Amino acid sequence: LKPAAFEYRAPRTLDEALGLLADNAEAKLLAGGQSLVPVLNFRLASPPLLVDLNRIAALAGISQDADGSLRIGAMTRNRALEKSELVRRANPLLHAAMPYIAHAQIRNRGTIGGSLAHADSAAELPAICVACDAELSIARKGSAMRTVRAAEFFKGFFTTALEPNDILVSIRFPAWPAGRRHGFVELSRRHGDFAIVGVAVTVQGDKANIAIFGAEDVPRLFRNERINPEMARSVAARCKPRSDHHASAEYRSELIEVLTRRALLQASGK
Ligand SMILES: Cc1cc2nc3c(=O)[nH]c(=O)nc-3n(C[C@H](O)[C@H](O)[C@H](O)COP(=O)(O)OP(=O)(O)OC[C@H]3O[C@@H](n4cnc5c(N)ncnc54)[C@H](O)[C@@H]3O)c2cc1C
Repeated sequence: LKPAAFEYRAPRTLDEALGLLADNAEAKLLAGGQSLVPVLNFRLASPPLLVDLNRIAALAGISQDADGSLRIGAMTRNRALEKSELVRRANPLLHAAMPYIAHAQIRNRGTIGGSLAHADSAAELPAICVACDAELSIARKGSAMRTVRAAEFFKGFFTTALEPNDILVSIRFPAWPAGRRHGFVELSRRHGDFAIVGVAVTVQGDKANIAIFGAEDVPRLFRNERINPEMARSVAARCKPRSDHHASAEYRSELIEVLTRRALLQASGK
């Protein structure tokens, strides 16, 4: 199928893009197009206007703030994150997850902002943001930039805190504390497929943040929990995984327990 006809604009500044959104309630933003274009081709959406963010240079880039936090522009390609030495040093969990996102060709185009705004429950980046307490900066015409914590950004199945007029501008990952360790494990049918279940953990001392994705409608975070031998079982017991054509709830529940155990072992260096 081909998409329904639409108007196309490619602004060069954020203000211009915000203005176009404010004037066109039905407009859609185009980032890497890796999720949006299939949606348009299947005519699951038929927006009258596409606002292409690709020429707004200010929306892309990776930098570190004076306090050590990592700031990533929404239009930064996944491949740039994967290849970034700064990301590897400043957030090793984010770096570890990147090769699991689709295939290299898709990571060449796909952006971090597009992935977070799309909010697929089986996507890696939403879970990493939640596990790391990332903050998302969001712009809207006529309003001050607002910041939303990742744990509050994902509202439900493909649903986020973004309103139709909003543009996700950047993501800030707080500084990675000395001594923090991480683990990342997922199971998918083939490499590059979305995860059936995945687990991202950070460990600081005897406490862990555990983010489960692919199981419920949004990434599920278990924050600052004391590590104990029953932890993986307890996490699985508190999740409410769905059944779908990929896997039953029972199978996902088993996976949550096994993958949580493996992610914790990974974080402990075993
Ligand atoms: C075969 C295949 C396999 C894939 N496998 C995986 C996988 O394993 N894991 C995974 O995580 N992803 C996977 N993806 C999805 C891929 O990562 C996409 O790149 C990503 O989900 C969307 O990013 P994008 O930049 O292409 O956004 P687009 O497709 O351009 O946009 C997606 C949505 O986000 C909105 N949007 C984009 N940018 C912004 C912004 N700055 N502010 C507000 N709204 C915005 C758009 O309007 C649209 O609704 C796969 C895709 C394909 C085609």
